Amino acid sequence: MVRSPALPEGRARADKARRTLSIFGATGSIGRSTADVVLQHGDAFDVEVITAQSRVDELAETAVQLGARLAVIGDATRLADLRERLAGTGIAVAAGPGAIVEAASRPVDLAVAAIVGAAGLEPTLAAIDAGADIALANKECMVCAGALFNRRAAAAAVRVLPVDSEHDAIFQSLEANNLRAVERITITASGGPFRTATLDEMRGATPAQALKHPRWAMGPKISIDSATMMNKGLELIEAHHLFDIESARLDVLVHPQSIVHGFVTYADGSVIAQLGAADMRIPISHCLNWPRRLETATPRLDLAAVGTLTFEKPDLERFPALSIARAALENGDWATNILNAANEVAVAAFLDGAIEFLEIAATVEAVLDRATATVGGTVLDTVETVLALDGEGRRLAAERIEFRGRRAG
Ligand code: NDP
Ligand code: MG
Repeated sequence: MVRSPALPEGRARADKARRTLSIFGATGSIGRSTADVVLQHGDAFDVEVITAQSRVDELAETAVQLGARLAVIGDATRLADLRERLAGTGIAVAAGPGAIVEAASRPVDLAVAAIVGAAGLEPTLAAIDAGADIALANKECMVCAGALFNRRAAAAAVRVLPVDSEHDAIFQSLEANNLRAVERITITASGGPFRTATLDEMRGATPAQALKHPRWAMGPKISIDSATMMNKGLELIEAHHLFDIESARLDVLVHPQSIVHGFVTYADGSVIAQLGAADMRIPISHCLNWPRRLETATPRLDLAAVGTLTFEKPDLERFPALSIARAALENGDWATNILNAANEVAVAAFLDGAIEFLEIAATVEAVLDRATATVGGTVLDTVETVLALDGEGRRLAAERIEFRGRRAG
Protein backbone atom coordinates (compact mmCIF):
# COMPACT_ATOMS: atom_id res chain seq x y z
CA MET A 1 0.00 0.00 0.00
CA VAL A 2 1.34 3.45 -0.80
CA ARG A 3 1.20 6.40 1.57
CA SER A 4 -0.47 9.73 0.85
CA PRO A 5 0.63 13.01 2.41
CA ALA A 6 -3.10 13.66 2.82
CA LEU A 7 -3.34 11.01 5.48
CA PRO A 8 -1.91 12.36 8.69
CA GLU A 9 0.20 9.78 10.44
CA GLY A 10 0.13 11.89 13.54
CA ARG A 11 -2.25 14.45 14.88
CA ALA A 12 -4.92 16.01 12.73
CA ARG A 13 -4.50 19.70 12.11
CA ALA A 14 -7.22 22.29 12.23
CA ASP A 15 -7.81 23.95 8.88
CA LYS A 16 -6.83 27.39 10.15
CA ALA A 17 -7.99 30.33 8.10
CA ARG A 18 -4.72 32.15 8.78
CA ARG A 19 -1.47 30.22 8.74
CA THR A 20 1.97 31.10 10.04
CA LEU A 21 4.78 30.25 7.72
CA SER A 22 8.55 30.47 7.27
CA ILE A 23 10.41 30.36 3.93
CA PHE A 24 13.91 28.86 3.81
CA GLY A 25 15.61 29.92 0.58
CA ALA A 26 13.26 32.87 0.03
CA THR A 27 15.41 34.56 -2.64
CA GLY A 28 15.56 31.57 -5.00
CA SER A 29 13.24 30.58 -7.81
CA ILE A 30 10.89 28.61 -5.52
CA GLY A 31 11.26 31.22 -2.74
CA ARG A 32 10.19 34.04 -5.06
CA SER A 33 7.23 32.06 -6.39
CA THR A 34 6.23 31.31 -2.80
CA ALA A 35 6.38 35.01 -1.93
CA ASP A 36 4.15 35.68 -4.92
CA VAL A 37 1.54 33.18 -3.73
CA VAL A 38 1.66 34.60 -0.18
CA LEU A 39 1.35 38.21 -1.41
CA GLN A 40 -1.73 37.36 -3.44
CA HIS A 41 -3.51 36.24 -0.28
CA GLY A 42 -2.11 38.60 2.34
CA ASP A 43 -4.89 37.79 4.79
CA ALA A 44 -4.21 34.03 4.66
CA PHE A 45 -0.60 34.00 5.90
CA ASP A 46 1.60 35.47 8.62
CA VAL A 47 5.26 35.22 7.71
CA GLU A 48 7.60 34.47 10.59
CA VAL A 49 11.06 33.85 9.09
CA ILE A 50 12.63 34.20 5.66
CA THR A 51 16.22 33.24 4.81
CA ALA A 52 18.79 33.52 2.02
CA GLN A 53 22.46 32.68 1.60
CA SER A 54 24.06 35.83 0.17
CA ARG A 55 21.54 37.94 -1.76
CA VAL A 56 20.99 40.61 0.88
CA ASP A 57 19.08 43.13 -1.24
CA GLU A 58 16.52 40.56 -2.38
CA LEU A 59 16.19 39.18 1.14
CA ALA A 60 15.57 42.62 2.66
CA GLU A 61 13.11 43.59 -0.04
CA THR A 62 11.15 40.34 0.33
CA ALA A 63 11.16 40.61 4.13
CA VAL A 64 9.53 44.05 3.88
CA GLN A 65 7.02 42.93 1.24
CA LEU A 66 5.97 39.92 3.29
CA GLY A 67 6.12 41.66 6.67
CA ALA A 68 8.38 38.90 8.01
CA ARG A 69 9.37 39.02 11.67
CA LEU A 70 12.93 37.79 11.14
CA ALA A 71 15.29 37.77 8.14
CA VAL A 72 18.36 35.52 8.27
CA ILE A 73 21.32 35.58 5.90
CA GLY A 74 23.52 32.47 5.73
CA ASP A 75 26.71 34.33 4.85
CA ALA A 76 27.64 35.98 8.15
CA THR A 77 29.81 38.60 6.43
CA ARG A 78 26.60 40.16 5.04
CA LEU A 79 24.96 40.78 8.42
CA ALA A 80 25.88 44.47 8.65
CA ASP A 81 24.47 45.01 5.15
CA LEU A 82 21.24 43.28 6.05
CA ARG A 83 20.93 45.24 9.29
CA GLU A 84 21.41 48.49 7.43
CA ARG A 85 18.83 47.64 4.80
CA LEU A 86 16.23 46.67 7.36
CA ALA A 87 16.92 49.48 9.84
CA GLY A 88 13.71 51.08 11.07
CA THR A 89 11.44 48.34 9.70
CA GLY A 90 11.11 46.44 12.98
CA ILE A 91 12.24 43.24 11.21
CA ALA A 92 14.82 41.37 13.28
CA VAL A 93 18.01 40.13 11.58
CA ALA A 94 20.45 37.28 12.16
CA ALA A 95 23.26 35.59 10.22
CA GLY A 96 25.13 32.33 9.79
CA PRO A 97 24.13 28.72 9.16
CA GLY A 98 23.47 28.21 12.88
CA ALA A 99 21.07 31.17 12.90
CA ILE A 100 19.12 29.61 10.00
CA VAL A 101 18.71 26.37 11.97
CA GLU A 102 17.73 28.34 15.08
CA ALA A 103 15.18 30.33 13.09
CA ALA A 104 13.75 27.03 11.82
CA SER A 105 13.01 26.08 15.43
CA ARG A 106 10.48 28.91 15.76
CA PRO A 107 7.00 27.38 15.81
CA VAL A 108 4.98 27.87 12.61
CA ASP A 109 2.19 25.98 10.88
CA LEU A 110 4.23 25.44 7.74
CA ALA A 111 7.88 25.70 6.72
CA VAL A 112 8.72 26.01 3.02
CA ALA A 113 11.96 24.08 2.41
CA ALA A 114 13.38 25.87 -0.65
CA ILE A 115 17.11 25.93 0.06
CA VAL A 116 19.06 24.16 -2.68
CA GLY A 117 21.08 21.05 -1.89
CA ALA A 118 21.92 19.11 1.25
CA ALA A 119 22.52 22.48 2.95
CA GLY A 120 18.77 22.49 3.50
CA LEU A 121 18.78 19.35 5.63
CA GLU A 122 19.47 20.75 9.08
CA PRO A 123 17.03 23.68 8.86
CA THR A 124 14.33 21.35 7.53
CA LEU A 125 14.86 18.83 10.33
CA ALA A 126 14.79 21.67 12.88
CA ALA A 127 11.44 22.83 11.46
CA ILE A 128 10.13 19.26 11.64
CA ASP A 129 11.24 18.92 15.25
CA ALA A 130 9.50 22.21 16.04
CA GLY A 131 6.24 20.71 14.73
CA ALA A 132 5.90 22.51 11.40
CA ASP A 133 4.36 20.80 8.39
CA ILE A 134 6.90 20.92 5.58
CA ALA A 135 6.23 22.17 2.06
CA LEU A 136 9.16 20.33 0.50
CA ALA A 137 10.87 21.71 -2.60
CA ASN A 138 14.39 20.82 -1.42
CA LYS A 139 14.41 17.22 -2.68
CA GLU A 140 18.15 16.86 -2.01
CA CYS A 141 17.61 16.90 1.74
CA MET A 142 15.27 13.92 1.47
CA VAL A 143 17.60 12.11 -0.94
CA CYS A 144 20.61 12.55 1.34
CA ALA A 145 18.87 11.65 4.62
CA GLY A 146 16.82 8.73 3.30
CA ALA A 147 14.43 7.01 5.69
CA LEU A 148 15.69 9.10 8.60
CA PHE A 149 13.81 12.08 7.15
CA ASN A 150 10.45 10.31 7.32
CA ARG A 151 11.18 8.90 10.76
CA ARG A 152 11.78 12.43 12.07
CA ALA A 153 8.59 13.68 10.42
CA ALA A 154 6.59 10.76 11.85
CA ALA A 155 8.05 11.29 15.34
CA ALA A 156 6.99 14.95 15.23
CA ALA A 157 3.62 14.05 13.66
CA VAL A 158 4.09 16.56 10.85
CA ARG A 159 3.10 16.26 7.21
CA VAL A 160 5.55 16.49 4.33
CA LEU A 161 3.67 18.14 1.46
CA PRO A 162 5.46 17.82 -1.89
CA VAL A 163 6.04 21.10 -3.76
CA ASP A 164 7.94 19.37 -6.57
CA SER A 165 5.41 19.56 -9.41
CA GLU A 166 5.46 15.84 -10.26
CA HIS A 167 5.02 14.79 -6.65
CA ASP A 168 2.34 17.34 -6.03
CA ALA A 169 0.59 15.87 -9.08
CA ILE A 170 0.79 12.39 -7.53
CA PHE A 171 -0.41 13.77 -4.20
CA GLN A 172 -3.43 15.24 -6.02
CA SER A 173 -4.04 12.02 -7.96
CA LEU A 174 -3.97 9.69 -4.97
CA GLU A 175 -7.39 8.88 -3.71
CA ALA A 176 -7.23 8.26 0.01
CA ASN A 177 -9.64 5.34 -0.15
CA ASN A 178 -7.79 3.56 -2.89
CA LEU A 179 -4.19 3.52 -1.69
CA ARG A 180 -4.23 -0.28 -1.63
CA ALA A 181 -5.24 -0.38 -5.28
CA VAL A 182 -2.36 1.75 -6.59
CA GLU A 183 -0.50 -0.26 -9.20
CA ARG A 184 2.07 2.21 -10.48
CA ILE A 185 3.13 5.82 -10.08
CA THR A 186 4.50 7.74 -13.07
CA ILE A 187 6.30 11.05 -12.99
CA THR A 188 6.85 12.98 -16.19
CA ALA A 189 9.99 14.76 -17.39
CA SER A 190 10.28 17.55 -19.94
CA GLY A 191 13.46 15.95 -21.28
CA GLY A 192 15.37 19.18 -20.68
CA PRO A 193 17.36 21.21 -23.21
CA PHE A 194 19.13 18.13 -24.66
CA ARG A 195 16.11 15.91 -25.24
CA THR A 196 16.86 15.67 -28.96
CA ALA A 197 20.61 16.39 -28.86
CA THR A 198 23.23 13.85 -29.97
CA LEU A 199 25.82 12.54 -27.53
CA ASP A 200 28.46 14.58 -29.36
CA GLU A 201 26.42 17.75 -28.97
CA MET A 202 25.95 16.96 -25.29
CA ARG A 203 29.68 16.37 -24.82
CA GLY A 204 30.44 19.89 -26.01
CA ALA A 205 27.53 21.55 -24.16
CA THR A 206 28.37 24.81 -22.39
CA PRO A 207 26.87 25.84 -19.03
CA ALA A 208 24.81 28.50 -20.86
CA GLN A 209 23.28 25.84 -23.16
CA ALA A 210 22.64 23.43 -20.30
CA LEU A 211 21.00 26.16 -18.18
CA LYS A 212 18.52 26.99 -20.93
CA HIS A 213 15.53 24.93 -19.90
CA PRO A 214 12.75 24.74 -22.50
CA ARG A 215 9.81 24.84 -20.06
CA TRP A 216 10.71 25.93 -16.54
CA ALA A 217 12.62 28.94 -15.16
CA MET A 218 14.55 27.50 -12.21
CA GLY A 219 17.71 27.95 -10.16
CA PRO A 220 21.04 26.89 -11.74
CA LYS A 221 21.51 23.59 -9.87
CA ILE A 222 18.14 22.06 -10.73
CA SER A 223 18.45 23.39 -14.29
CA ILE A 224 21.64 21.39 -14.78
CA ASP A 225 20.02 18.40 -13.04
CA SER A 226 17.21 18.65 -15.60
CA ALA A 227 19.70 18.73 -18.47
CA THR A 228 21.40 15.51 -17.25
CA MET A 229 18.03 14.11 -16.10
CA MET A 230 19.59 13.54 -12.67
CA ASN A 231 16.67 15.66 -11.51
CA LYS A 232 14.30 12.86 -12.53
CA GLY A 233 16.56 10.37 -10.74
CA LEU A 234 16.43 12.45 -7.56
CA GLU A 235 12.66 12.64 -8.04
CA LEU A 236 12.34 8.83 -8.25
CA ILE A 237 14.09 8.66 -4.88
CA GLU A 238 11.91 11.46 -3.55
CA ALA A 239 8.77 9.63 -4.73
CA HIS A 240 9.92 6.44 -3.05
CA HIS A 241 10.16 8.23 0.31
CA LEU A 242 7.09 10.43 -0.06
CA PHE A 243 4.70 7.70 -1.14
CA ASP A 244 6.39 4.61 0.30
CA ILE A 245 6.52 2.86 -3.06
CA GLU A 246 9.32 0.67 -4.39
CA SER A 247 11.43 1.39 -7.46
CA ALA A 248 9.81 -1.38 -9.54
CA ARG A 249 6.45 0.42 -9.43
CA LEU A 250 7.84 3.88 -10.25
CA ASP A 251 8.06 5.04 -13.87
CA VAL A 252 9.45 8.05 -15.71
CA LEU A 253 7.92 9.22 -18.95
CA VAL A 254 9.29 12.05 -21.07
CA HIS A 255 6.55 14.56 -21.89
CA PRO A 256 8.03 17.62 -23.59
CA GLN A 257 4.94 19.82 -23.19
CA SER A 258 5.17 19.64 -19.34
CA ILE A 259 1.41 19.72 -18.88
CA VAL A 260 0.69 16.30 -17.37
CA HIS A 261 2.94 16.37 -14.31
CA GLY A 262 2.33 12.90 -12.96
CA PHE A 263 -0.24 10.13 -12.78
CA VAL A 264 -1.35 7.17 -10.74
CA THR A 265 -2.40 3.89 -12.37
CA TYR A 266 -4.93 1.93 -10.32
CA ALA A 267 -5.53 -1.82 -10.24
CA ASP A 268 -8.69 -1.54 -12.35
CA GLY A 269 -6.80 0.18 -15.18
CA SER A 270 -7.97 3.70 -14.33
CA VAL A 271 -5.32 6.39 -14.59
CA ILE A 272 -5.71 9.61 -12.60
CA ALA A 273 -3.45 12.47 -13.64
CA GLN A 274 -2.91 16.10 -12.68
CA LEU A 275 -2.50 18.68 -15.44
CA GLY A 276 -1.53 22.32 -15.26
CA ALA A 277 0.56 25.08 -16.79
CA ALA A 278 4.31 24.82 -16.10
CA ASP A 279 4.20 27.34 -13.26
CA MET A 280 5.50 26.40 -9.80
CA ARG A 281 3.01 28.74 -8.14
CA ILE A 282 0.36 26.05 -8.77
CA PRO A 283 1.97 23.25 -6.68
CA ILE A 284 3.27 25.81 -4.16
CA SER A 285 -0.23 27.21 -3.65
CA HIS A 286 -1.63 23.69 -3.37
CA CYS A 287 0.81 22.86 -0.55
CA LEU A 288 0.53 26.20 1.25
CA ASN A 289 -3.24 26.06 1.29
CA TRP A 290 -4.01 22.35 1.42
CA PRO A 291 -6.68 21.10 2.01
CA ARG A 292 -8.31 24.35 0.86
CA ARG A 293 -7.68 25.79 -2.61
CA LEU A 294 -7.16 29.50 -3.22
CA GLU A 295 -6.96 31.33 -6.53
CA THR A 296 -3.55 31.78 -8.16
CA ALA A 297 -2.49 34.34 -10.76
CA THR A 298 -1.18 31.60 -13.04
CA PRO A 299 -1.94 30.98 -16.72
CA ARG A 300 -4.93 28.71 -17.24
CA LEU A 301 -4.44 25.60 -19.29
CA ASP A 302 -5.74 25.95 -22.84
CA LEU A 303 -5.60 22.40 -24.19
CA ALA A 304 -7.02 23.36 -27.58
CA ALA A 305 -4.14 25.81 -27.99
CA VAL A 306 -1.64 23.13 -26.90
CA GLY A 307 -3.22 20.69 -29.35
CA THR A 308 -0.97 17.68 -28.88
CA LEU A 309 0.45 15.97 -25.82
CA THR A 310 3.27 13.52 -26.51
CA PHE A 311 5.00 10.93 -24.35
CA GLU A 312 8.16 8.89 -24.89
CA LYS A 313 10.46 6.60 -22.93
CA PRO A 314 13.62 8.24 -21.56
CA ASP A 315 16.82 7.42 -23.46
CA LEU A 316 18.99 5.84 -20.78
CA GLU A 317 22.04 5.82 -23.04
CA ARG A 318 22.18 9.58 -23.44
CA PHE A 319 20.87 10.18 -19.92
CA PRO A 320 22.72 7.61 -17.76
CA ALA A 321 22.06 9.68 -14.62
CA LEU A 322 18.57 8.25 -14.53
CA SER A 323 19.77 4.63 -14.33
CA ILE A 324 22.54 5.56 -11.89
CA ALA A 325 19.97 7.15 -9.58
CA ARG A 326 17.60 4.22 -9.88
CA ALA A 327 20.39 1.79 -9.02
CA ALA A 328 21.27 3.95 -5.99
CA LEU A 329 17.63 3.90 -4.90
CA GLU A 330 17.68 0.11 -5.09
CA ASN A 331 21.00 -0.05 -3.17
CA GLY A 332 19.73 1.90 -0.19
CA ASP A 333 20.04 5.20 1.65
CA TRP A 334 23.85 5.22 1.80
CA ALA A 335 23.95 5.08 -2.00
CA THR A 336 21.43 7.87 -2.56
CA ASN A 337 23.33 10.00 -0.05
CA ILE A 338 26.60 9.53 -1.97
CA LEU A 339 24.79 10.05 -5.29
CA ASN A 340 23.45 13.40 -4.15
CA ALA A 341 26.73 14.62 -2.68
CA ALA A 342 28.77 13.64 -5.76
CA ASN A 343 26.17 15.21 -8.03
CA GLU A 344 26.21 18.53 -6.14
CA VAL A 345 30.00 18.71 -6.48
CA ALA A 346 29.96 17.67 -10.15
CA VAL A 347 27.24 20.19 -11.08
CA ALA A 348 29.19 23.00 -9.38
CA ALA A 349 32.36 21.89 -11.22
CA PHE A 350 30.53 21.91 -14.56
CA LEU A 351 29.13 25.39 -13.90
CA ASP A 352 32.69 26.51 -13.02
CA GLY A 353 33.98 25.15 -16.32
CA ALA A 354 36.10 22.51 -14.58
CA ILE A 355 34.45 19.45 -16.19
CA GLU A 356 32.49 18.65 -19.34
CA PHE A 357 28.76 18.05 -19.32
CA LEU A 358 28.94 14.26 -19.73
CA GLU A 359 31.44 14.12 -16.86
CA ILE A 360 28.67 15.03 -14.37
CA ALA A 361 27.02 11.61 -14.55
CA ALA A 362 30.39 9.88 -15.05
CA THR A 363 31.69 11.47 -11.83
CA VAL A 364 28.64 10.37 -9.86
CA GLU A 365 28.94 6.83 -11.19
CA ALA A 366 32.67 6.61 -10.44
CA VAL A 367 32.20 7.97 -6.92
CA LEU A 368 29.44 5.45 -6.24
CA ASP A 369 31.70 2.65 -7.48
CA ARG A 370 34.52 3.72 -5.18
CA ALA A 371 32.22 4.33 -2.21
CA THR A 372 30.70 0.85 -2.49
CA ALA A 373 33.95 -0.71 -1.30
CA THR A 374 34.55 1.73 1.56
CA VAL A 375 31.24 3.05 2.90
CA GLY A 376 28.76 0.76 1.12
CA GLY A 377 25.97 -0.33 3.46
CA THR A 378 26.52 2.49 5.99
CA VAL A 379 23.35 2.79 8.06
CA LEU A 380 22.04 6.36 8.27
CA ASP A 381 20.67 6.31 11.80
CA THR A 382 21.74 9.78 12.91
CA VAL A 383 22.09 13.19 11.28
CA GLU A 384 25.80 13.05 12.06
CA THR A 385 26.14 9.86 10.01
CA VAL A 386 24.16 11.45 7.16
CA LEU A 387 26.41 14.51 7.13
CA ALA A 388 29.62 12.47 7.47
CA LEU A 389 28.67 10.28 4.51
CA ASP A 390 27.69 13.37 2.52
CA GLY A 391 31.15 14.79 3.29
CA GLU A 392 32.77 11.57 2.06
CA GLY A 393 30.78 11.69 -1.20
CA ARG A 394 31.90 15.29 -1.74
CA ARG A 395 35.52 14.42 -0.97
CA LEU A 396 35.55 11.51 -3.44
CA ALA A 397 33.94 13.65 -6.15
CA ALA A 398 36.39 16.52 -5.65
CA GLU A 399 39.27 14.05 -5.71
CA ARG A 400 38.19 12.53 -9.02
CA ILE A 401 37.58 15.92 -10.62
CA GLU A 402 40.99 17.15 -9.50
CA PHE A 403 42.73 13.95 -10.64
CA ARG A 404 41.20 14.06 -14.11
CA GLY A 405 41.84 17.81 -14.34
CA ARG A 406 45.53 17.23 -13.60
CA ARG A 407 45.74 14.43 -16.17
CA ALA A 408 44.05 16.60 -18.81
CA GLY A 409 46.14 19.68 -17.97
P1 NDP B 1 17.78 28.70 -6.29
O1 NDP B 1 19.20 28.49 -6.53
O2 NDP B 1 17.02 29.59 -7.19
O3 NDP B 1 17.55 29.21 -4.78
C1 NDP B 1 18.19 28.62 -3.69
C2 NDP B 1 17.86 29.34 -2.40
O4 NDP B 1 18.61 28.76 -1.34
C3 NDP B 1 18.25 30.83 -2.42
O5 NDP B 1 17.40 31.52 -1.55
C4 NDP B 1 19.67 30.80 -1.85
O6 NDP B 1 20.07 32.04 -1.29
C5 NDP B 1 19.52 29.73 -0.79
N1 NDP B 1 20.77 29.02 -0.51
C6 NDP B 1 21.71 28.60 -1.41
N2 NDP B 1 22.70 27.94 -0.79
C7 NDP B 1 22.42 27.97 0.53
C8 NDP B 1 23.09 27.48 1.69
N3 NDP B 1 24.26 26.84 1.61
N4 NDP B 1 22.51 27.68 2.90
C9 NDP B 1 21.34 28.34 2.99
N5 NDP B 1 20.65 28.82 1.93
C10 NDP B 1 21.18 28.63 0.71
O7 NDP B 1 17.10 27.24 -6.28
P2 NDP B 1 15.60 26.82 -6.68
O8 NDP B 1 14.63 27.75 -6.06
O9 NDP B 1 15.54 26.56 -8.12
O10 NDP B 1 15.51 25.39 -5.97
C11 NDP B 1 15.39 25.25 -4.57
C12 NDP B 1 15.08 23.79 -4.26
O11 NDP B 1 13.80 23.47 -4.81
C13 NDP B 1 16.07 22.80 -4.89
O12 NDP B 1 16.24 21.74 -4.02
C14 NDP B 1 15.36 22.34 -6.15
O13 NDP B 1 15.73 21.03 -6.53
C15 NDP B 1 13.90 22.37 -5.69
N6 NDP B 1 12.93 22.54 -6.78
C16 NDP B 1 12.98 23.66 -7.56
C17 NDP B 1 12.09 23.84 -8.59
C18 NDP B 1 12.10 25.10 -9.41
O14 NDP B 1 11.22 25.28 -10.25
N7 NDP B 1 13.03 26.02 -9.23
C19 NDP B 1 11.08 22.82 -8.91
C20 NDP B 1 11.09 21.70 -8.01
C21 NDP B 1 12.00 21.56 -6.99
P3 NDP B 1 20.79 33.17 -2.22
O15 NDP B 1 19.72 33.61 -3.18
O16 NDP B 1 21.17 34.25 -1.28
O17 NDP B 1 21.93 32.50 -2.89
MG1 MG C 1 10.12 18.35 -10.44
